[in-house]
Amino acid sequence: GHQVHIIGGGLAGSEAAWQLAQAGVKVRLSEMRGSGDMTPAHQTDGLAELVCSNSFRSDDADRNAVGLLHQEMRRLNSLIMAQADAAKVPAGSALAVDRDVFSQGVTRALRDHPHVEVVRERIDALPGEGLTIVATGPLTAPALTASIGAAAGMDHLAFFDAIAPVVHFDSIDMDQCWMANRWDKIGPGGGEGKDYINCPMNREQYQAFVQGLLDGEKTQFKEWEKDTPYFEGCMPIEVMASRGPETLRHGPMKPMGLDDPRTGRWPYAVVQLRQDNASGTLWNMVGFQTKLKHGAQLELFRTIPGLEKAEFARLGGLHRNTFIQSPKLLDATLRLRSAPHIRFAGQMTGCEGYVESSAIGLLAGRFAAAELLCRPFAPPPADTALGALLGHVTGNVATADYQPMNVNFGLFPPLDDVKKKQRKEAMTARARASLGRWLGEALQPV
Ligand code: FAD
Repeated sequence: GHQVHIIGGGLAGSEAAWQLAQAGVKVRLSEMRGSGDMTPAHQTDGLAELVCSNSFRSDDADRNAVGLLHQEMRRLNSLIMAQADAAKVPAGSALAVDRDVFSQGVTRALRDHPHVEVVRERIDALPGEGLTIVATGPLTAPALTASIGAAAGMDHLAFFDAIAPVVHFDSIDMDQCWMANRWDKIGPGGGEGKDYINCPMNREQYQAFVQGLLDGEKTQFKEWEKDTPYFEGCMPIEVMASRGPETLRHGPMKPMGLDDPRTGRWPYAVVQLRQDNASGTLWNMVGFQTKLKHGAQLELFRTIPGLEKAEFARLGGLHRNTFIQSPKLLDATLRLRSAPHIRFAGQMTGCEGYVESSAIGLLAGRFAAAELLCRPFAPPPADTALGALLGHVTGNVATADYQPMNVNFGLFPPLDDVKKKQRKEAMTARARASLGRWLGEALQPV
């Protein structure tokens, strides 16, 4: 029989299966596609099917966080990276793949592995016992979603991904903005009442901005998304703008109680940003969830005073997404605290993207193997891409409102003493050295 049960043969589940099998552990990999079931986005029954773009994004391991993650995963014998490299198509400095060659490569490697049994079946409930990895992705089938909700608490299971953009702090021009809370209120945690960054707008700027929202190109809802209602409080900003020219000034762009220190008066409208991680490197735009296309967001949001040179760790978006409140629910090795025989992996844990989902699958596989074989396996250090991403998921970095995120340098411990121009190279060099030390320790035989 098998020793670990993996549910979901997508990117994370396939990678987890490979890591376990390579460690000598027998795996049952349950995938519902191929048994008559399908998700709203998949089109084949291949394992690790890419549902949308064919890109794994930047492959630059010196200057880009996802490129660094590629490199770290290769160093940990990732199946997903090996098959992506084998299926590579020309795409400049990005890693893009032929999606069919890629998925067939993953499917073949797992089907032919003596320790892996791929079973085409849908699982409708979390198993009551036995080491399990749940990697059923953002489009988890409804019965299992309900079962996860019962175990995790329904209010901890988000069904909708309404996300506001997140900005790197060091790209904000603080000469144009100021820090203050509305009415200078001090929060329950104390402090100085200066928690928010406020970007002021005059009447002309506000009106041009609202017009920009109305004119900007929007992503259309997919057919299957139409029935899913907006949750209270996550209406896209352009939908609010379409309700009337003043709607935003009475909503997220409300200026009341915010004295601009340069004028002593309230501006006509404001855009507020709230700290998004413990180290203060990332700030999210409050109430700015949007379905504007990424290009339109960049163009429009850079007209906001103070954000002219903003660099975004994440742009806004809205699509169906099942993910759990991992920082609350999971321990440091991705186990469900309330039922530790169950691990979660992939986009379900609140990472975002093909590479990130695979990376969390890789770690879940390694953690499960170590647990089963009684080998010590410390989580990767926080200054590596794997460690930074795991920190986002398991809550080493506190977030007020947990939302999915791509890997990015804002998740790494800051390097303030290094000049901004050299910071990316310094971060990736630090990560490489740190991963090397960790691999040396992690792979020591016991
Ligand atoms: P998946 O790859 O979705 O794998 C989950 C697997 O579990 C699927 O094979 C599914 O069939 C199976 N499954 C579900 N329920 C059950 C069940 N009850 N029993 C058995 N099997 C089950 N990321 C990018 O980087 N680039 C993109 O362009 C991109 N586009 C996206 C477009 C859409 C519409 C969505 C929803 C997401 C997109 N993502 C994209 C985000 C994310 O990277 C992918 O969804 C990624 O595939 C997540 O990996 P995963 O392994 O967590 O889930």
